[in-house]
Amino acid sequence: MTSDPRFAYARLRMRKDPQAVIVPLLDLKQQYQSIKDRVLAVTNDIYESQSFILGPRVEAFERAVADYVGARFAIGMSSGTDAQLAAMMSLGIGPGDDVVTSPYTFFSSAGAVYRLGARAVFCDIDPVTFNVDPAKLAEAITPRTKAIQPIHLFGQCADMDPILGVARQKGIPVIEDACQSLGAEYKGKKAGNLGDFGCFSFFPSKNLGGFGDGGMVTVNSEDLAQRVRSLRTHGQTAQYFHKYVGGNFRLDALQAAILNVKLPHLDNWGEGRRKNAAEIEGLFSEFGGVGFGEGGIGFPRQTEAFHHVFNQFVIRVAGGRRDELKRRLGERQIGNAIYYPVPLHLQECFALWGGKPGDFPEAERAAGETLAIPVFPELTAGQKEYVAFTLAQFSRGE
Ligand SMILES: *Cc1c(COP(=O)(O)O)cnc(C)c1O
Repeated sequence: MTSDPRFAYARLRMRKDPQAVIVPLLDLKQQYQSIKDRVLAVTNDIYESQSFILGPRVEAFERAVADYVGARFAIGMSSGTDAQLAAMMSLGIGPGDDVVTSPYTFFSSAGAVYRLGARAVFCDIDPVTFNVDPAKLAEAITPRTKAIQPIHLFGQCADMDPILGVARQKGIPVIEDACQSLGAEYKGKKAGNLGDFGCFSFFPSKNLGGFGDGGMVTVNSEDLAQRVRSLRTHGQTAQYFHKYVGGNFRLDALQAAILNVKLPHLDNWGEGRRKNAAEIEGLFSEFGGVGFGEGGIGFPRQTEAFHHVFNQFVIRVAGGRRDELKRRLGERQIGNAIYYPVPLHLQECFALWGGKPGDFPEAERAAGETLAIPVFPELTAGQKEYVAFTLAQFSRGE
C-alpha cells in the first residue's frame, strides 16, 4: 500500500460506488429495513390491544434497560429532557439551589435547572473528552450545590472517578446526562450506572432511537425510583391522590415496544460506529491528512477505559477553519453538523446567571472548532474513503 494520496484517490474513483459521493450525516432508513418485520408485528399487537399508556410493554423495556445498564430500577419517561427534570424534582431542587453542569452540551441540562427556579453553575470542559474537567469541579461547588450533572457527550463518558470523588466527599448527588451514551462504558461500567441517576433519551437520532420522543431514568435507590415513578404521573401515589406535584412524563407503549425490538442490536450498531470512526481516521492518515497540531484536523481519542459509542463523531479543525470545512463538506454532499455553536453560559435566556465571553475558554473554543461528520454503521467503504479523502485534502490546505 502506497501512502501517495493521489493513488488513494484513484482507488476511490475506481470503486465506482455511486453512493460514495453523497454521504448523509445519518441515514436511519437502512436500519429500519433490517428490523421492519419485527417492528410491524409488535406495533400491530398494540393497535389490536388499544392499550397505549405505560403497561406491560413499558415495563418489559424498563426491565431490559435496567439489566443492560446494570441498575436496579429504570423508569420510562416521555423524553431525555423530562428524565433530567424528574431526576432533579425527585431531589427537591428548587429556588435557591445550584446545579453544577457543563456549559458545552445540549440545552436541556441547564434548561431543566432553570425551569425549577434553580441556578446552573458551569464548570469548564476538558478539551480532550469535551466533558466536565474534574480538576475544575471543586471550585464550582457552593454551599447551595444540590446536584452535579456531568454530561457524557457524543457517546463518551466524563471522567467519573474524580467527579464522584468530589461529589461523595461533599455528599452531593450525581445525575448523569447519558442521553447520547447508552452503551458507553467507563472502566467497564455502563454509562447511567456510575452516579445516582442516569438520564437517557430515545430521540430518533440517538444510538437507540424511537419513532418519536422517549426517555428513561435509571437509579439504584428504591426511594428515589418510587419518587420518579410518581412524578411521572403528576406526583400521584395512588390514583388521584397526589403527594407531589409532577408532570405527564410517561413513555408510550408504542415507543417502548419498538425500542425493545432495537435494544438487542445496540451493541452491534455501536461496534459499527466505533469501527467506522477508526477507519475514517486511518484513511485520513493514509491519504496524507495533516493533524490538528500541525494546523489540520484532530480526531477524538479512543481508549479502553472510555468505551466511546460515537453517537456523534466530532472532529476539531485548527486555524479558525471550521466554518470553511463545513462549507466544503456541504459542497461535496457530506452531511455535517455543529454540536453546539453557542455554549450554555452565553445563551440569551440564561443572561440572568451573568455568563460572559471568556468565562469558560475550553467550551468556547470547542464551540468554534468542532464539527460532527458521518459515522452511522451502514456507511459503505466508498463513503468512508470519500469522507476521509475530502478531510485529508482540506487539512493540507488544498
Ligand atoms: C438529546 C439530549 C438530551 C435531551 O433529550 P430529549 O429526548 O431530546 O429531550 C439531553 N442531553 C443531551 C446531551 C442530549 O443529547
